[in-house]
Amino acid sequence: MENEGKVLGNKGIPSCPWKGHDDLWGKYHLSRETGLRPLGEKLFAEEKKVDVYLLMTHIHWDHLLGFPFFAPIYEPTTKIFVDGFPTCMKGLRAPFDNKFGDGFFPIKFNDLRAEIQYLDRLNRGPLEIEDVVIDSIPLQHPQGGYGFRFREGKKTLVFITDNELTEEAWSSWHPADYVPFCKDADILIHDAQYTPEERKKRSGWGHSDYAAALELALDAHVKRLILFHHDPTRKDPEVVSFQAKCEKLARERNADIAIDAAREASEFTL
Ligand SMILES: [Zn+2]
Ligand SMILES: [Zn+2]
Repeated sequence: MENEGKVLGNKGIPSCPWKGHDDLWGKYHLSRETGLRPLGEKLFAEEKKVDVYLLMTHIHWDHLLGFPFFAPIYEPTTKIFVDGFPTCMKGLRAPFDNKFGDGFFPIKFNDLRAEIQYLDRLNRGPLEIEDVVIDSIPLQHPQGGYGFRFREGKKTLVFITDNELTEEAWSSWHPADYVPFCKDADILIHDAQYTPEERKKRSGWGHSDYAAALELALDAHVKRLILFHHDPTRKDPEVVSFQAKCEKLARERNADIAIDAAREASEFTL
């Protein structure tokens, strides 16, 4: 079966491979918080009963705030299987049950009508969902996080966002440590929030520049790189110019790689 993917909310939740009851298996939605709302609408338009595997990279706000607006959580026919970074359930509860006081959101987590189950598998090794094997890797990011690799048959998709590929900022992990995880991937979606100049001023903030993302993709012989997690202030022409710069750098290295910048609602086939 062909795998399709869709980018939702690339400036702003977790990756979530999902399986609908109409057997739409094989699709990956890779998004941050802004992406979950339209995904919820789409799932409901197709079918009222929704089973979702929700993999959380980490629990920073830009990866959480879409969850309260994911319409299927208000339906008793929905099942959500959660896995990913160990604090993920705490994070999903936070927008509903804020300890700082009432008034932030009208509904409590325990009042959600969907069945929400924490799988707790990725802490102990790969998670297998039918024919897909999912592995995780630690992120170089404040408070930590996980990147994910999805393998089905001969196809591999790697999703690493909120990750700083530098030698100096992080003592325990180095950019080269990501090469085996990304090795020969068909698609690598990686954080490319900054330019190299911006990144130097943001050392330790836990994001990469586009050149570092490309370097990883080239070292790992990735077939296609998708630049992701654009800075919120970024204008479209800037993103296009970063893609062009990466293409030029790849040509100079005679590298056979396709490069894209993630665009809202863009779709791809593995
Ligand atoms: Zn983050
Ligand atoms: Zn983020």
